[in-house]
Amino acid sequence: MEIYADNAATTKISDIAKAAMIECMESSFGNPSSLHSDGQRAAVTLASARRKMAQQLGCSEREVIFTSGGTEADNQAIFSAAALGEKAGKKHIVSSAAEHHAVLHALHRLEKQGFEVTLLPMPESGVLSPKAVETVLRDDTCLVTIMMANNEIGTIQPIAEIGNICRERGVLLHTDAVAASGYVPIDVVRQKIDMLSLSAHKFHGPKGVGMLYARKGIKILSLVEGGSQEGGKRAGTENLPGIVGMATAFEQVCANMRESAAKLTILRDRLIDGLGKIPHSVLNGDKLARLPSNANFCFEAIEGESLLLLLDQKGIRASSGSACTSGSLEPSHVLLSIGRSHEVAHGSLRLTLDHTATEQEVDYMIEATYQVVARLREMSPVWRDLQEGKRKYVI
Ligand SMILES: *Cc1c(COP(=O)(O)O)cnc(C)c1O
Repeated sequence: MEIYADNAATTKISDIAKAAMIECMESSFGNPSSLHSDGQRAAVTLASARRKMAQQLGCSEREVIFTSGGTEADNQAIFSAAALGEKAGKKHIVSSAAEHHAVLHALHRLEKQGFEVTLLPMPESGVLSPKAVETVLRDDTCLVTIMMANNEIGTIQPIAEIGNICRERGVLLHTDAVAASGYVPIDVVRQKIDMLSLSAHKFHGPKGVGMLYARKGIKILSLVEGGSQEGGKRAGTENLPGIVGMATAFEQVCANMRESAAKLTILRDRLIDGLGKIPHSVLNGDKLARLPSNANFCFEAIEGESLLLLLDQKGIRASSGSACTSGSLEPSHVLLSIGRSHEVAHGSLRLTLDHTATEQEVDYMIEATYQVVARLREMSPVWRDLQEGKRKYVI
């Protein structure tokens, strides 16, 4: 059996998005900035994609800025808010320790430029309390940036409540909704979000394209100089096929969200219950406030990389932590943030499903993980020590 269970790293492009991209490349090949009819046809295609994104998010078309992906959108939101803050003499930013590196590394750059960043610690549940955000706000806070859902442990943050607090205190709220999109409803007005990042390849669109929603009136800084595309906020000829693929994919995932979330929740819970029966295992992140697609576990005395390789041999494409950190020996900063020790965090497994998942596949993944964990433990001197009582179990 071949199962792709790494949908938090990237998703397979949908047939409908792929078809829309091919159609776009064939019939809307012009440059949307050209005045002739081929250019204008491309401009109409671009406007239509923008309208689709805006409709799904509940914002206006002029609040949509197309980018090269989630990373760029995160950077642009954060550097824009920082520039605005600096002008007003506000150089304090609030975020969390479990954010994506696109946010954390952008914040790190700002720290070097004299900004002060408060990273909220995560409770073991991986879900922040709005109160925790409120307590650290200061008069000189210019931005709160908290992700809508975590890409590693799948936990969903109370963004609407955080939005309420930020709006009351006159602080901008940015949310990285890259991992949440397609799984949880987004309404930027109701949730009082000022800026929001999306990435197409996380919801069955193409790679290399994303967007930033920026509420009207917020001055957005352009990260690249050049032409006046995207209202002067993002120079360079638009990635039209990518943008069309993104809008088509997003429309589809939003239309199917309720149905696929209901189906996925049942499968996820079956997966979590099954993996939870493996001795000395622990679920990472709250069981309920989590994406319907995500199961993330740590197993005592297991090395994540070995687990992945053996699962791969059994046809299961999984991950330990995020794709960006695999390949490095550092354990996931997200697992560390919820209090897992280095040792425990190394034995992590993330399985992320999509709408095509079946009960049969879930059962196969449970069985395969069970076998692989048992096999690795048989060979592990640490496990032997644990069994002989020379070491204490952590999980
Ligand atoms: C994937 C991801 C990103 C980065 O998006 P890219 O389009 O790959 O640059 C940012 N934030 C989160 C939460 C993600 O999961």
